[in-house]
Amino acid sequence: MKPQCHPSFAERLDSLVDWLYPPRCRACSESIQGRDREYFCSTCWPQIQLVAHPFCTICGRPFPDSSGDDHVCGVCLARNPQYARAHSWACYPREEATEHPLRQVIQKFKYGRKVALGKPLGRLMARGCEEFLLTCKAETIIPVPLHPRRLRWRGFNQSVLLARQIGRAYNLPLDCFTLFRKMDTPPQTQLPEEDRRKNMRGAFALSGKTAVKGKCLLLVDDVYTSGATVNECSRVLKQGGAREVFVLTLARAVY
Ligand SMILES: [Zn+2]
Ligand SMILES: [Zn+2]
Repeated sequence: MKPQCHPSFAERLDSLVDWLYPPRCRACSESIQGRDREYFCSTCWPQIQLVAHPFCTICGRPFPDSSGDDHVCGVCLARNPQYARAHSWACYPREEATEHPLRQVIQKFKYGRKVALGKPLGRLMARGCEEFLLTCKAETIIPVPLHPRRLRWRGFNQSVLLARQIGRAYNLPLDCFTLFRKMDTPPQTQLPEEDRRKNMRGAFALSGKTAVKGKCLLLVDDVYTSGATVNECSRVLKQGGAREVFVLTLARAVY
């Protein structure tokens, strides 16, 4: 068969859409040249550090020495998390003052209420975390719930939008109702590690136990900082009879 020399109708339509609405970087809003790199511009992409081996085999914290093997980190050795394993798509520096494209895009998504970012960010998670998603063999996805008051303010739950893309890609059902937030806890960002745990205690509850009993669940959230939120959710789900809980987040805040 002769190779196709002319662009197809779909390709021509794509170029026309790009010409009319040039794609922009989701973090810095610069226009993106070429279609080889999706979602971020050539300045922002190199700054986004994907979580790669070696990392903690429980909490997924990446280790700085790239030559070592995966192992359990000191934090997990001292206090075994309630979940089986956690993983994140990429990391950003934990210091609030440090500018970073991944932090920037998450802030736009959550506080700028850019609901349209849910789809590209969820797709990046679904594609980039394939190894983790295939090995955890979860049956149902549970997005970390927001308190109704915060949900009313934001208008959407960012974790649900991310989870929806993962559910679509891996053909997994979402359960947005069994786990709910009964306490509107103050923001965790300024709190030290131990206070974050106390702050979360009793924040979540189950509306019924039958939906989680004996199941392997995937908990989805936007950011993993100290792990206090996902750990408390996992504790409640395990108490409700869940067999295992795995955790996936878009970003991991690291020192
Ligand atoms: Zn950019
Ligand atoms: Zn760990």
